[in-house]
Amino acid sequence: MATLIARNRIFLSKHLINSVRCMSNTQKPDSSSRVDPCQSSSLLDIGTRRIFNSDHDIFRQTARRFMTDEIIPNHEKWENDGQVSRECWEKAGQMGLLGVATPEEHGGLGGDFLTSSIVMEEQSYSNCTGPGWALHSDIVMPYISHYGTKEQIQRFLPQMTAGKCIGAIAMTEPSAGSDLQGVRTNAKKDGDDYILNGSKVFITNGYMADLVIVVAITNPNAKTTAHGISLFLVENGMKGFIKGKKLKKMGLKAQDTAELFFEDVRLPKSALLGDENKGFYYLMNELPQERLLIAVMGMASCEFMFEETRKYVRERKAFGKTLSKLQVRQSTEMIL
Ligand SMILES: Cc1cc2nc3c(=O)[nH]c(=O)nc-3n(C[C@H](O)[C@H](O)[C@H](O)COP(=O)(O)OP(=O)(O)OC[C@H]3O[C@@H](n4cnc5c(N)ncnc54)[C@H](O)[C@@H]3O)c2cc1C
Repeated sequence: MATLIARNRIFLSKHLINSVRCMSNTQKPDSSSRVDPCQSSSLLDIGTRRIFNSDHDIFRQTARRFMTDEIIPNHEKWENDGQVSRECWEKAGQMGLLGVATPEEHGGLGGDFLTSSIVMEEQSYSNCTGPGWALHSDIVMPYISHYGTKEQIQRFLPQMTAGKCIGAIAMTEPSAGSDLQGVRTNAKKDGDDYILNGSKVFITNGYMADLVIVVAITNPNAKTTAHGISLFLVENGMKGFIKGKKLKKMGLKAQDTAELFFEDVRLPKSALLGDENKGFYYLMNELPQERLLIAVMGMASCEFMFEETRKYVRERKAFGKTLSKLQVRQSTEMIL
């Protein structure tokens, strides 16, 4: 049985990877046969919206099945644990749900952001906030793909697509949130190496991360902080890299948001991502996509909650009628 499942997974992931690749540029949406969400019976229906096509629908079906089979049944346990399992990352990798928009020549699946957003939407529709895949695939991986050396790309991106290397990005510090120029974490040159010191807070995937992109000051004398910031690839297990506690939060309870500490971490020159002192420019280039994916997931979560509410008021009975038939609800029913 286990072998059969494994074989199916390999078949499915190969099929999906091919369909993701094929979707990337060649196919135009078959828009004429697709309905708008307002015409469908549910906002979560597959086959709606003209920006998608039938290949996207196949990909969405598989992503949805994966959420139903592998994520939803485990999520309560993960909420208690404060983190998801490593196994779920690797299974997502096998199913072709990670690194979807990373170019194929960099070890990704060669799809586009639209295809990747299907994974984000399906995660939101499952109401499971634990897996930090969006940050991993569509925030961390693009930095390496866009600014990494050939060696960095080859070393990390295929492993990240496989879910065997979990990525995080560490910008925020107690003194640096919205105002990123408040960072204090610094990397001082020591021969060809850098010595990294400082701390970060609120880091998504921070506790499970194998690889963290760390924002640090490399030129304290630059005309503004933004001109003296660099990015570094810091790996789990490096001496002096310490993971703090998983933070207890109001929501996202299965997501391992953590504090990270760097105490004289010696980084070789090969850990520098892109050019020295260009880190802030890279952040400004990449942060808009982060906002976009937060918006995609936010919208999808609203759609999910709307459908849950619609279902509830149509099923729940009080005073001999469903809630949707009670007078006070009838104006809402016109919308629902
Ligand atoms: C669940 C979670 C996951 C996170 N994951 C990561 C991660 O993976 N990596 C990472 O680096 N960081 C992460 N963060 C940190 C996040 O990026 C910061 O919380 C965010 O940048 C805001 O910083 P802050 O919390 O210090 O708020 P502050 O910057 O102190 O802002 C406080 C309030 O002031 C408002 N404000 C700020 N500036 C202005 C302004 N100019 N005008 C008007 N109002 C303003 C803000 O909107 C906010 O309401 C995460 C945070 C959370 C909650």
